[in-house]
Amino acid sequence: MSFIGWMLDVARDQSPSPARLHQLCERSLAAGYNAFGLYFEHRYAYPSAPFAAGPGALTPACVRELVKTFTPRGLRVIPFLNTLGHMEGFIRSEGGQHLAESDNIWSLQLCPSRRECVEFARGLIADVLPVFDDEWVHIGGDETWELGNCPRCAARAAEIGKHGLYAEHYGELCRWVLKQGRRPALWGDMLLQHPEAIAGIPRETIIFDWQYFNRPRDSTGKFRAAGFDVVCCPSIESYNSGWCFLGATQRICDEHAEDARAAGALGVLMTTWEFMFFSPFAAIEPLVFAAGRRLSRGEPWTDAIRTEAGEAFVRAAAILGEQIPAASAAIAPGTWRLLRDRFVIRQNPFELWKAWRADACGAPGDQILALCDQLDGIIARADSPAVRELRLPVQFHRVAVSWVRVAEKAAGHYRRREFGACVDALERSADLIASLRPELKRVAAEGGSASDPARVDRLIEKVHTAAARVCTVPTSTTWLPSFETLTHDYYMPGDQAAWRTGDKQTPLV
Ligand SMILES: [Zn+2]
Repeated sequence: MSFIGWMLDVARDQSPSPARLHQLCERSLAAGYNAFGLYFEHRYAYPSAPFAAGPGALTPACVRELVKTFTPRGLRVIPFLNTLGHMEGFIRSEGGQHLAESDNIWSLQLCPSRRECVEFARGLIADVLPVFDDEWVHIGGDETWELGNCPRCAARAAEIGKHGLYAEHYGELCRWVLKQGRRPALWGDMLLQHPEAIAGIPRETIIFDWQYFNRPRDSTGKFRAAGFDVVCCPSIESYNSGWCFLGATQRICDEHAEDARAAGALGVLMTTWEFMFFSPFAAIEPLVFAAGRRLSRGEPWTDAIRTEAGEAFVRAAAILGEQIPAASAAIAPGTWRLLRDRFVIRQNPFELWKAWRADACGAPGDQILALCDQLDGIIARADSPAVRELRLPVQFHRVAVSWVRVAEKAAGHYRRREFGACVDALERSADLIASLRPELKRVAAEGGSASDPARVDRLIEKVHTAAARVCTVPTSTTWLPSFETLTHDYYMPGDQAAWRTGDKQTPLV
């Protein structure tokens, strides 16, 4: 394999400093990588889209410095933009609303039928070309689920199909990139979903075939048969778990390397995603570089992790990445980030109580807490920065279990009409959530998720709101709103049935 790269997702509230990126590039070279990708969406200070450059966005000066320092030493620095789907950071900025495909503030996509959108996308690419001097420029193209939504696109799709919309947009952009003397790259998922679009994409385009849960043999084979150069893309499974599904990550990485070689692909790009929702990059960083050692030199996984982060990290990783997920079926490999989704993403911690209370309050919860104790011991004894970065994931698991247990106690008090004790328990549970704040603030100060400290505040606010509601329930009748209803975002005092309450698109569940 000639290409061995990895990609950092800075698009989700990340602000890595130039020194931090420099350090990551140094480690990339040491691990055997020959390419480092920066996936940034709106998190780049594009001269053509100044309205979208939020605090801490990557700057051209920072990238130039990286390119100047590391390209001569054998590390390519490759830009990963997006130019149709995943444009939410632009669309949700003041001044970018008009770019949306759908008449909905939650639209993620540009409209490929409006010239201003196509020009906007081209402007973003034009901004980065003189800064990144790599031959390749990745222009995204994944998850364009809104194809054909707006009236103009719907009319065109009736004639040329959704695949036609995609092929015209990316055919034109790829040809334009080629005219600038560079090779365009696209994610492969939409071409697999709309195979008729493949004919419209110039064959000089490199397809990044991301298959995070299945080996890429079949899909990469299709792209190779169609005449494309392909890069096979596994992922570090952190975005879908409480820390990382370690065994699954190692398996998918190895399968991609094997299939890439067999299919004559250019190589492998290890992707990393979504270091928000209490999942900092630094906590899985050694795995990225261990993957580099594995891909470039075939080192055994455990040796590679030990070399990157030491023996204590190896032991801690086995607990966090294997034993804890195995303790509860709801957070096992193959499930979808229950703790992060129900505790953090949905912005109401009672969602986790509803989804996980049997396990958290039972033997699986006991086991997770015992494993967290072991991890605390490992972290306390280890004199290693890499191991110290595991404090947050350990604390996250401990707080998730402990919080659900206190919420369950509060629900019991409520059911027995012990309202004072219920409120006390809820206030205690808010302190548990607040205990996450110092680490999240540290991570934010070091360039990690800028929003996670505010997410803690939101969760605490929901707990306080629930406590305040407990104080106002009627005591003159035997009727009480259920605790599930009372703690729901849509709760309305006196609305016993909660029929059509809140948003009818997302009914009370
Ligand atoms: Zn449209």
